[in-house]
Amino acid sequence: MESEQIKNVTVVGAGTMGNGIAHVFAQYGISVMLHDIKQEYVDRAMNTIKGNLDRQIKKGTITEDQKKETLGRIATSLDLESACKSANIIIEAATEEAALKKDLFKKFSQWTLPQVILASNTSSISITELAAVTSKPDKVVGMHFMNPVPVMKLVEIIRGLATSNETFEAVKSLSERLEKVPVEVNDYPGFVSNRVLLPMLNEAMYCVMEGVATPEAIDTVMKLGMNHPMGPLTLADFIGLDVCLSIMEVLYKGLGDSKYRPCPLLRKMVAAGHLGRKAGKGFYTYTSS
Ligand code: NAD
Repeated sequence: MESEQIKNVTVVGAGTMGNGIAHVFAQYGISVMLHDIKQEYVDRAMNTIKGNLDRQIKKGTITEDQKKETLGRIATSLDLESACKSANIIIEAATEEAALKKDLFKKFSQWTLPQVILASNTSSISITELAAVTSKPDKVVGMHFMNPVPVMKLVEIIRGLATSNETFEAVKSLSERLEKVPVEVNDYPGFVSNRVLLPMLNEAMYCVMEGVATPEAIDTVMKLGMNHPMGPLTLADFIGLDVCLSIMEVLYKGLGDSKYRPCPLLRKMVAAGHLGRKAGKGFYTYTSS
């Protein structure tokens, strides 16, 4: 399948990433079917997309008409089978659980057109493993967008062991159609983004645990000393400490090297429910206003 032939995309999972992916595809003229398991989730996603389009209007990057056109290209569905039927590409952005994603990929391989591309936005689950549960592993690829999707330029394109060149090239040029910058990565735990980022965040947590410095001090060193836009502990709180822990576990298990061991303080904070910004408490305390 050539990228220009991609007219319909189905996005599975309408959470943080799914709504951003739907927004971007629709903004660039591609019809989107946005699927989730509950009406309230797709409603919430549509409201987020509307709010983000309004923000773009305020900034002067799109017009009121473009907002209408973008919204007009997004349909929603709670029925996965019918949502898959006419898609040229499926982008799976459901909860980060291997069993759940494998179940979805099995269904995609049964319910889709023969030429469909099956992409996952997973941060850490093996594309090769997802491909292995389908009848068309050559059509399975990782398309790892960054949060917030309408703003961030990078798409890591992950080649599973069986991903064909045709699938890779189609997804690469599709990313360029969305004015994103695709980067080719092979399927190893954490790909590149999380393999490089998460050990740094984990090390910052060790610095807190060992009393090397306070979270504020560590973040200041990395912001002012290394020109990072956000300190590592602020970023960890933003990502979610449970998500950080599960990615460290994937690196530790998948690469079998003790340098990826999750920081015990991270484990303790997750056990206590101090999950970062979304829980109101992590390395910092957040009020809802
Ligand atoms: P989220 O929790 O915000 O959204 C997940 C959505 O999936 C929820 O709305 C949930 O109802 C839905 N879902 C669960 N089971 C489903 C099913 N069987 N069928 C359809 N939908 C289902 O999560 P998120 O942050 O949007 O992450 C989604 C994916 O994107 C994950 O694989 C994650 O690793 C990846 N990712 C996340 C980020 C990030 O910063 N949040 C960045 C890059 C990649």
